[in-house]
Amino acid sequence: MFKKVLIANRGEIALRIHRACKEMGIQTVAIHSTADENAMHVRLADEAVCIGPPSPAESYLNKAAILTAANITGADAIHPGVGFLSENAEFAEMVVEHGHTWIGPSPAHLRMMGDKIEAKEAAKRLGIPVVPGSDGGVDSEEDALRLAKEIGFPLIIKAASGGGGRGMKVANSINEVAEAYNICRTEAKVAFGDDAVYMERYLGEPRHIEVQLIADGQGGCVHLWERDCSVQRRHQKVIEEAPSPALDQAAREKIGKTVTDAMVEMGYASAGTIEFLYERGEFFFIEMNTRLQVEHPISEMICGVDLVREQIRVAAGHKLSFKQEDIKLNGHSIECRVTAEHPETFMPSPGKICDYHAPGGLGVRVDSHLYTGYSIPPYYDSLVSKLIVHGDSREECLKRLDRALGEYVIGGIQTTIPLHQKLIHEEAFKSGDYDIHWLEKLMGLK
Ligand code: ADP
Repeated sequence: MFKKVLIANRGEIALRIHRACKEMGIQTVAIHSTADENAMHVRLADEAVCIGPPSPAESYLNKAAILTAANITGADAIHPGVGFLSENAEFAEMVVEHGHTWIGPSPAHLRMMGDKIEAKEAAKRLGIPVVPGSDGGVDSEEDALRLAKEIGFPLIIKAASGGGGRGMKVANSINEVAEAYNICRTEAKVAFGDDAVYMERYLGEPRHIEVQLIADGQGGCVHLWERDCSVQRRHQKVIEEAPSPALDQAAREKIGKTVTDAMVEMGYASAGTIEFLYERGEFFFIEMNTRLQVEHPISEMICGVDLVREQIRVAAGHKLSFKQEDIKLNGHSIECRVTAEHPETFMPSPGKICDYHAPGGLGVRVDSHLYTGYSIPPYYDSLVSKLIVHGDSREECLKRLDRALGEYVIGGIQTTIPLHQKLIHEEAFKSGDYDIHWLEKLMGLK
């Protein structure tokens, strides 16, 4: 097992990884920008290295600085966390070339799934159902117009290198195709440095359902059931729950098996998530995330598995410590993503936390790096806490969530806690009857 792991990330996820390492007897190295010198993961890690100024390009995305930190501290392995360099195949290769272990899948798999066009083709080959659309990229406006007539309306044009809910344009009729196509390409070039785009049918009322898996690349591959992430704003997840209220046991077993069979065939090793849209009983692949996900704790809660620990074990060459039949589905779990934003306008609200009290009690977990006196810097993602609750049933889970949200005090900044309190009392949410458009319709945005 590794003796020392460098955590190439910040915020709550850096803390999450630190915690798993400590419980495994592994020393941790935190890296941080000058804006994060007082961050919780920096305080708790065994060693910390400042790698640059606040701008992510000069710090958390600075490959040379991170590798230098790994070299001078003698770290055996690098855990990239979520976002930043976590799906960067070139960085994964550099990590290995410099004699460290990459806690993640192979660069080849990162590359394959990082390009959404290639990912869709791979999914099809592996027997995973995909959203009907263009076979491959769409290289010209003429092709876009011709394909649009075949796909039908509405349709969505998506950037091959897109992520974080960006790089997507919907066209409702043939008159909108040329403009949507050109805007999508231009925006993709600016945001991702790659103007490759593809087209697919825009589903009217799907749910976003994703399957969490972990594989050891030695024949072991287990799924941890599914998460429902349909409560979204701007294609980004706001509340997630596991299991999905929309699936019965037979459906979840079937999709779980489809996914694990595909991953074994691919030779995948590490944690990963296959994302689907689910409409009228059918699953359609949209993408694979070849890393840990923000919402992984809800799967941990219903399965009793520490995913980060397992991910580290697998990277160190161990076989999975459990088999599919060991993974029982126990109760229900919901996660609220609490961000430092105004709960109605979503204006960013960085600043100093003058008062902090996290909820607790049975079935309540808070993954957060906040503490009284901490100043949230304005340079990074606005996620400041994940409130995760577990209950024997969905009903118990909802009551517990209501109770926990009511206890949560984050003073000095605006947060989305009031939004979560409102959402969990909505009839549609209480009954589990919502799709990916529900939240935006409720907010009058659609
Ligand atoms: P990203 O990598 O940016 O997260 P995804 O491909 O995972 O992009 O899609 C994010 C969200 O965008 C989905 O959860 C869904 O809400 C919406 N979306 C993507 N593709 C479609 C589609 N074909 N039809 C309807 N909604 C879609």
